[in-house]
Amino acid sequence: MMNTSIKSNMVWIPGRDDSLEKFSAHSFLISGDEKSVLIDPGSLSHQKELTETSIAPDLIIATHEHWDHVAAADFYPDIPKLAHPEAIEALNTPLPNVVRPTGHGDEHTSQFTAAPSVIDLGNLQLEVVWTPGHTRGSMCLYEPSTKTLFAGDTVFADGGVGRIFFTGNREDYKQTLTQLVELAEQRGVHLICPGHGDLVEGEKACLDSLRASYHHFLL
Ligand SMILES: [Zn+2]
Repeated sequence: MMNTSIKSNMVWIPGRDDSLEKFSAHSFLISGDEKSVLIDPGSLSHQKELTETSIAPDLIIATHEHWDHVAAADFYPDIPKLAHPEAIEALNTPLPNVVRPTGHGDEHTSQFTAAPSVIDLGNLQLEVVWTPGHTRGSMCLYEPSTKTLFAGDTVFADGGVGRIFFTGNREDYKQTLTQLVELAEQRGVHLICPGHGDLVEGEKACLDSLRASYHHFLL
C-alpha cells in the first residue's frame, strides 16, 4: 500500500498484517508549522516504508508499549520519544508479557519520556487522552482543529476493540470507551486513525464506530 496524505499535513504510512514477519502497526506523520511528529513508528520491518517517506520528525510518540508500534523508534536515535507516563516503565525496561506479549516481537532499546498533556506542533495540537484498557499505558491523541483521533490499539474501524493484555483490564476499557464516545458527542471526531486496519472518515461514521466499540463492553 502506498503512503497516503489523509489531510493536509498528515501522512499515513500503512503497516502490514499479512504476515508475522512483516507485521507492523500503521505510522502517522503529522506536520505542524513548528514541529512534526511521528506517531507509532511501527515494528522493525517497517523501516522501508518509513524511509520511503523521507521522514525527519522532531518527535516520536508511542500510543502504547507494544513492539509492533514502537520497535522502529530505534531508527531515530537522536529524536526525543514520548509516551503516556503509565507506559514509560514498560517501554524503558521491556518486561516479558508487557512489551512483547506474544513472545515474538522485536526488541528495542529506545528510551521514552512522559508526554505532556498537550503536544504543541504550532498550528496543530495533539491532546493526550489516557485510554487504559488494551494496556494500562495506552493513550489516544486528539487533534482539535481537524477533529482527528489517533487511536493506537484502543479502537478500530467498524466498532473494533483491542485485546486486553497483561496490564489492561475490562473495567478501564469500558470507562475509556465512555470517554471516547463523549469526546465525539461533545467536541466531534471526524477522522479515526487506528493502529491497524481501515481508517474511519466522517462525523457520523466515527460516532457510530465509537458507540459500537463501547457496546462490546456492555455484555
Ligand atoms: Zn497493542
